[in-house]
Amino acid sequence: MARYTGPVCRLCRRERTKLFLKGERCYSMKCPVSDQVTERTSRAYPPGEHGRDRMRQGSEYLSQLREKQKARRIYGLLEKQFRNLYEEANRRPGITGEVLLQMLELRLDNVVFRSAWGASRSQSRQLVRHGHITVNGKRVTIPSYRLRKGDVVALKGPTRENFHVRRNRDTLDRQLVPWLESADDGFQVTLLSLPLREHIDEPVQEQLIVELYSK
Ligand code: SF4
Repeated sequence: MARYTGPVCRLCRRERTKLFLKGERCYSMKCPVSDQVTERTSRAYPPGEHGRDRMRQGSEYLSQLREKQKARRIYGLLEKQFRNLYEEANRRPGITGEVLLQMLELRLDNVVFRSAWGASRSQSRQLVRHGHITVNGKRVTIPSYRLRKGDVVALKGPTRENFHVRRNRDTLDRQLVPWLESADDGFQVTLLSLPLREHIDEPVQEQLIVELYSK
């Protein structure tokens, strides 16, 4: 499946907010949109030659578009995948925006990220693609695999000693979300329930995405 392979800090700068796409660097002073860097060295403005000119307030459509792009980039989906997911969420009962976010959270790569085995969602995706993750005891290599209540996700034995995984577990200060339960010394998680909106901490206004796609 295709994926974005360009510079990711550029995406944060475009959205003018931290999307945490790079793992460790996102928590350091090296982040170009970090609050900690001085005004002189900060690059918290859109990329490109005319980036600073784009700082103005935009239209209603622009804010809806930016919100959709932000959500898509946080979870690492391409436009078509995201649109298909929205169509599916729209067909389901419930509030479309919340169902959409719930479906994004239930992706296997996201659960690996939430479990702090991967520093970023792209690193988590790689762990899945390379066959390091099992679901209910079976190896699954599809990052978009949608988990269900009661599913047990685990890191395969040899991967538990992987340098990057160990470092992530030691250094990332990431609280496990309430809809996951950790076991086996943190190398296994069980999906206790479906994620509720209040448990999804991503800075996304899903209603704007629904308004955009409903036009
Ligand atoms: Fe780059 Fe991470 Fe900062 Fe985004 S949050 S700009 S990906 S370092």
